[in-house]
Amino acid sequence: TLMEEREIPCTVTLDHGPHEHPVGMKKSGCHGFCECGPLLRIEPMGLLYIKVKVEDCEEILEKSILRDEVIDRLIYHDAEGNAFARQDDIPFYRQQTRVALEHCGHINAESIQEYIAEGGYCALEKALFEMTPEQIVEEISASSLRGRGGGGFPTGKKWRQVLEQKSDIKYVVCNGDEGDPGAFMDRSMMEGDPHRVIEGMIVAGIATGAHHGYIYVRAEYPLAVARLQKAIAQAEELGLLGEHILGSDFSFDLKISQGAGAFVCGEGSALTASIEGKRGMPRVKPPRTVEKGLFEKPTVLNNVETFCNVPPILNRGAAWYQTIGPEKNHGTKAFALTGNVCNTGLIEVPMGTTLRQIIFDIGGGVKDGSFKAVQIGGPSGGCLCFNSAEEHLDMPLDFDSLKKVGAMIGSGGLVVMNDKSCMVEVARFFMNFTQNESCGKCVPCREGTKRMLELLNDIVEGRGTEEHIHLLEQLADTISATALCGLGKTAAGPVVSTLKYFRDEYMAHVVDHT
Ligand code: SF4
Repeated sequence: TLMEEREIPCTVTLDHGPHEHPVGMKKSGCHGFCECGPLLRIEPMGLLYIKVKVEDCEEILEKSILRDEVIDRLIYHDAEGNAFARQDDIPFYRQQTRVALEHCGHINAESIQEYIAEGGYCALEKALFEMTPEQIVEEISASSLRGRGGGGFPTGKKWRQVLEQKSDIKYVVCNGDEGDPGAFMDRSMMEGDPHRVIEGMIVAGIATGAHHGYIYVRAEYPLAVARLQKAIAQAEELGLLGEHILGSDFSFDLKISQGAGAFVCGEGSALTASIEGKRGMPRVKPPRTVEKGLFEKPTVLNNVETFCNVPPILNRGAAWYQTIGPEKNHGTKAFALTGNVCNTGLIEVPMGTTLRQIIFDIGGGVKDGSFKAVQIGGPSGGCLCFNSAEEHLDMPLDFDSLKKVGAMIGSGGLVVMNDKSCMVEVARFFMNFTQNESCGKCVPCREGTKRMLELLNDIVEGRGTEEHIHLLEQLADTISATALCGLGKTAAGPVVSTLKYFRDEYMAHVVDHT
């Protein structure tokens, strides 16, 4: 408004011609630095202003935009008082490696021209005209990209299994049903760089012989849905989606399916059932999704972040991707860093980065106390802690290292807890969530999580005994061994890990009734 009042020529997007206006303004996707928002980045200096208020705008316009001056009170200062004017110099950003998130916060998410100007859809062109489906699968396999939705299954292997299926109809499905409390990685990618998701999915279609795609997004993400819809329409208009893509023989259509928010619909078979219009409930496997997935046809099902990694792998090569992260865990991982940490936000780091680097270097340390634990992997993940296992802080975060200590990367939620957090309460919070979200199909999960929650309620509210702890352990074993799907199998994760590392806290709650 200020620019309009002063008659300063202003363009909202680059669509109107990048060179004819001296000053432009655009709305980008998420920059990731939630703790310091609202954020404003000024190009070409790369200045980042934090906690910007409406009343700051006039000064920003006068000083920084028209006179290239830096306003000290609006730039980031660390705990020691060091000032950082440029975004790339701020420790929160400096120590990150952004691959899946590279465009988020930098381009106008609603402009296909900006995406193309950043090299967008080059991977699609390469996949269409320079590579065979086998070569694409080979390249993805060579990169050792693993599914970022939690399981860490090798993406190339999954794609090969679908490629080898004999079927006239195959599907590519993107899982955007991010349901973990505190997780918002996929949402930011869909909102901030929707064309990247679409491009990754079309490449998966070319690689596996699938001509139809669905993006399953929870309806609680209306901006992601709107931006994806707009991006699909733009791609169709430019011939990047639909019949004979870029004049080739390959056709691919893409639809959005909105989920109603059930956590269990993040599970593959429940998700495909939901798209089919059925109740979102997991089914017994086999057959696996790669054999009989959506509408009983072979289906590539990957999550948003996995698809976002595909275009850069094709553009820069598997060898480049292998330079990031440790053996068999290559690439980066996006995490939603929340809880008692100074710099909350969305981050992306090489696999193998330690918790210490994430919490103290990027996150700026623990807020309101000392570090106690971190909950990783969503409601079913484990709690890694400092008190009884200091080595966890220096443990590399990757699929294999976390598995060894009974935790999992999950989709990437990372909740930091300080020494004032009660770990029994934490376990109860997650058990309450899982119990609410249990679809009720199988007895171990439907009844077992309910009983575990009752036991935890008793312990937290002072009615618990040592027998309660014993029963919790028994139920945890039984549910994980007998539940039908991953939600139930891992539901006891927070209880098991908090019992392992914080048993004394359970004992402190327990009443001796003898
Ligand atoms: Fe449903 Fe839980 Fe059984 Fe999964 S484990 S099918 S969520 S009841």
